[in-house]
Amino acid sequence: MAEAVGLEQPGLDRAGGEEFLQEAMRVLLDEAVRKATDVAEKVCEWKEPQELRELLDLELRDTGEPPGRLLERCQDVIHYSVKTSHPRFFNQLFSGLDHHALAGRLITETLNTSQYTYEIAPVFVLMEEVVLAKLRALVGWSTGDGIFAPGGSMSNMYAMNVARFHRFPQSRQDGNWALPRLTAFTSRESHYSIQKGAAFLGIGTANVCLVASDTRGKMIPEELEKEIQRVKAEGSQPFFVCATCGTTVLGAFDPLGSIADICQRHGLWLHVDAAWGGSALLSAKHRHLLAGIERADSVAWNPHKMLTVGLQCSAFLLRDASGLLQRCHGAGATYLFQADKFYDVAYDTGDKTPQCGRRVDCLKLWLLWKAIGTQGLAQRVQRAFACTQYLAEEVKRREGFQLVLEPEFINLCFWFVPPSLRGREGSPDYWPRLEKVAPAIKERMMRRGSMMVGYQPHGTKVNFFRQIVTSPAVTKADLDFFLDEIERLGQDL
Ligand SMILES: *Cc1c(COP(=O)(O)O)cnc(C)c1O
Repeated sequence: MAEAVGLEQPGLDRAGGEEFLQEAMRVLLDEAVRKATDVAEKVCEWKEPQELRELLDLELRDTGEPPGRLLERCQDVIHYSVKTSHPRFFNQLFSGLDHHALAGRLITETLNTSQYTYEIAPVFVLMEEVVLAKLRALVGWSTGDGIFAPGGSMSNMYAMNVARFHRFPQSRQDGNWALPRLTAFTSRESHYSIQKGAAFLGIGTANVCLVASDTRGKMIPEELEKEIQRVKAEGSQPFFVCATCGTTVLGAFDPLGSIADICQRHGLWLHVDAAWGGSALLSAKHRHLLAGIERADSVAWNPHKMLTVGLQCSAFLLRDASGLLQRCHGAGATYLFQADKFYDVAYDTGDKTPQCGRRVDCLKLWLLWKAIGTQGLAQRVQRAFACTQYLAEEVKRREGFQLVLEPEFINLCFWFVPPSLRGREGSPDYWPRLEKVAPAIKERMMRRGSMMVGYQPHGTKVNFFRQIVTSPAVTKADLDFFLDEIERLGQDL
């Protein structure tokens, strides 16, 4: 047992702490920024869990360790972590490292405040308002509301909750007991967070109607209309339609105009899940993909994906400017939101969300935007499209590569067919064998640490790669390497 501690003993070694921090920042810059983005370094350092556990010595003990040991630990953490900012990390819908956004993230972490009141976050309350208004303007709304949420899944869930409250204001107090059976509609290709949201909100996953999509992954509006009719005839009340802009696997954009017409006719809330595809709004050349988004009631958009802002940055945007968000989620805790504060409490925006404490997510995007302007953001979006277009052409040109579908967005979906399978499409073992190719190549690339890319089965299609470029650091050489490496790794399969 430690001895009793009195106030005469210092609580914090400030000088030692600052010295350590300085060293830790040096490690951070050298290892997590410079080395992690260096194409000559590995993307990942694969270890089996047991081996990694031993290497890291994770056990927490009674006594502390000296600074030198702690710095080694910081180095180890970085060394064995996946370098998502590496130019050959193509595995996720986020990747890359923007130095300005990172500066924003570090300042945010250091200031360690919560976004809920003007009192403790004056700068960020004003900043969030500006950033959200800018995002709304890109959607096409001159007024409205919104909040940064902890991810697109949560933004989608908020949308469902607000839609239910909008239609049945009594739901807030009386819960689902006061309501008829509700049905939400979303496409088969939509993100699984819609199902999670329905489970979480007590709507029930059985009451999410998965509307059929076409071969390109877009919701079929006629099918939506049919399903609405069917559900109504069965005595359930449609209340929410989610259209997706940029589906997670195929990168498809639902036809918003026709879907909005249907929602309007039936008086249904239209939510657009643009978590992935929203950033295309920045590009004059590509924003047509989201034509009609201004007719939505709410939009989810994750700048942390395509804009290289850093996790997390997800905007939940509303067309409503009447305070619906506040009425739906607010609980007016009197220890936080005192009405008799000495300043204008309209700036205490924290009650618009189901969260209490809320991370500051606006600064990283704001600082990036300030640094490169709307034009710079648009260029990044266009560059990501250009990378995908280049790769799609290469895939068509190269022997053994086959597109799953022509990319409309920046999801490059393709198979690699090893030489042993080429020209054997007719044979009964072709698809069962092709199914094993992507997982085998993935294992090899991770053991080598040369790059990372995701694969998945999808619908009736066996495992194929889904390659994503969002990082502005990716060069043509990296793209060529990507395909060459797949060929090298899959040659003998
Ligand atoms: C990524 C994604 C989400 C979820 O966003 P998170 O921030 O990961 O929770 C929702 N919808 C779509 C279409 C996505 O691609």
